[in-house]
Formats: sequence, C-alpha cells, structure tokens
Amino acid sequence: MLLHLSTASSASDLEALRRVAAEKGYELRFLDRGRSVVELVRESGPGKPGDRVAFEDLACVLRVLDASEAPELHQRVPGREDTVVRIGAAAFGGSSVSLIAGPCAVENEAHVLEIARAVRDAGATALRGGAYKPRTSPYSFQGLGPKGLEILARVRAEVGLAILTEVLDPREVERVAAVADALQIGSRSMSNVALLAEVGRCGKPVVLKRGLAATARELLLAAEHVLARGNRDVVLCERGVRGFDRVTRNVLDVGTVAHLKRVTHLPVIVDPSHAAGRPELVLPLARAGLAAGADGLIVEVHVDRSRARSDAAQALTPAEFATLARSAAALAQLDGRRLVVPEGVGDLAEACP
Ligand code: PEP
Ligand code: MN
Repeated sequence: MLLHLSTASSASDLEALRRVAAEKGYELRFLDRGRSVVELVRESGPGKPGDRVAFEDLACVLRVLDASEAPELHQRVPGREDTVVRIGAAAFGGSSVSLIAGPCAVENEAHVLEIARAVRDAGATALRGGAYKPRTSPYSFQGLGPKGLEILARVRAEVGLAILTEVLDPREVERVAAVADALQIGSRSMSNVALLAEVGRCGKPVVLKRGLAATARELLLAAEHVLARGNRDVVLCERGVRGFDRVTRNVLDVGTVAHLKRVTHLPVIVDPSHAAGRPELVLPLARAGLAAGADGLIVEVHVDRSRARSDAAQALTPAEFATLARSAAALAQLDGRRLVVPEGVGDLAEACP
C-alpha cells in the first residue's frame, strides 16, 4: 500500500501510523527525502480489506495512493471478471444491460398493473415501485406500506416482472424481502449502516442509490457494508447529486459513473428520472448514463402522470419509455453489449429509428 502523508504531521501523528502499521503487520518504507510518500510492506502475505480504512482514517494520511494489495470487497482486481447481478430475468454487468421501470410509488393495483404491462412490452425486465416512500415532507403521501407490498406481489404473479422496491427501516427488511426480488436503498438511506447491515444479511439483491451529497468513496463504502455481511449482489445507482441550479432536479454525475466502472467490479446503473426532474430530459440523461458505461437504467413511468401521487413531474408515459428502451438497446449494441428484454419482445436495437 502507498500513502501520501501530510508534511505537517506531528511526531505523535507519525507514531500513530507506526503503531497501526505494526498492529497490521506492515513495515514502513519512506520513498522520498521529504517523507511524504510511504510504502507499507507486508512480508506475511496480502493485507485485509479493512486495512485501507485503518490508514485512511489517520490524521497524518492525506490520501491512500494505492491499496491494491489490500483490496476491499467492492474493488476491481485485475484479472477478475465483473460481477453480474441478476434480478429475475434482468442482468446487470458484464455485457448485459437491463431496464427497471415503473411508478415512483405504488398507488393502486389497477395503475401498477397497467404500468407493469406497458413497461414489460416496451422492454423492461424489472418493475420498480415504492410501497414505503421516503418523502421529504411528512405531509406528503408516504406510500401504502404493507398493502403496497401485496399489490406488488399480485402484479408480479400477473405480469411476471421481477419486483424492486424500497426498504426504509431495518425492522422491515424481512417483511419487504419476503415479497421483493430486490431491495432498493434510497439516497436518503445510503448512510444508514443498520439498514445496510440488515440488507446485507437478507440474501436478496440490493440496488444502492448514491446519497444526495455522497462522494463516490462513501457510496463504495456503503456497498462494502452490504458486501461484508455476505451479500455480493449489489448494484450501485447514480441518481444525481445536489447542484446549485434548478434547471435539473439534481446533477447527473456521469463522470462518477465512468469512475465507478473503473474502480469496482459491481454493476452501476443510472436513474435519469430523479436527476432530470422533468420528462423531456430523461431520455438524453439515460443515453448519457449508458454512454458513460452504466449497466442499466431505472426509470419512472406512469400511465396518468397528472394524477401521480409522488414525483409526477418527472414520470415518462409508456410511449416515451418505449422510445427510451429502443435507444438503450441501440446504445448497448454500439458498445458490444446487449439489452436484456422479456421473452416475446423482439430485438429493440433494430426497431430504433
Ligand atoms: C425513488 O426511487 O423514488 C426515490 C425516492 O429515489 P431517491 O432515493 O434516489 O431519491
Ligand atoms: Mn421517485
């Protein structure tokens, strides 16, 4: 491991570094006269995933320059294949691109059923929809809760799409996981370590959304909490970060999508809906996400957006989603990848105008 040290470090800060290094079985070798770059050498075999953070947290360490000898569980290791996460028929990672689509919230069975049929016919392989909604205001619609889960279960039986739905509370993980094919951890919950630990134990795939102001490293460490509990099916989701301009709801950080694809073997998807905040920007942002290397998209779709009880302003109509799906198929093909579609849906790349 290579560390960049602060030249202003005190003797006691350096002593702390020596102590942690000794505890973990490393020797220090300073590589420059100014003693600002140090190599940690370990004769007794490779380091452990937790070694990096032990050094990263020290006062004298400005940056970990290279941690490839103590890889964390999310970290890309040369020669090791990308993780492909499957949620029902959907596959994310490697050469597979998939689409998750559906309403922001589960509102009533008729709507969810209609939306599910429409997005399946358009090429989505998983249905999204929140039964528990993390709303900014306590006075907004909070979701149908257990009734919403029942609706999702019935819609899956009817339409056959895998279900992705959000879990907000560690105490509800078991109940949500009993119905869902995959669990969503929303932006507002990304740092809830109790929730991350519980979904890490539940055995269902997890879609982990980046916090509104979380760094890429914080997102990866949130994923590490899930991975460290034995759940290896984690999909990272970039959904836009807080910006200063209101022309978009959030700023879709495609640079971070490209960065994540370099540093982790986990699949990365993009949510253009929460980034855009309005329907006419969803298609271009979806395209930008795929061009940056995203392994899939999660998109909000509603059959009657004027009546949607949550995130009405950004929902696509089924027809708009069908256009997006064709475009996604064509872009995936350009990159030598393949959009996975439900049985009976033809080659969408060919259908792209
Ligand atoms: C959602 O997917 O509807 C949602 C609340 O997303 P986020 O957590 O990204 O705001
Ligand atoms: Mn939403």
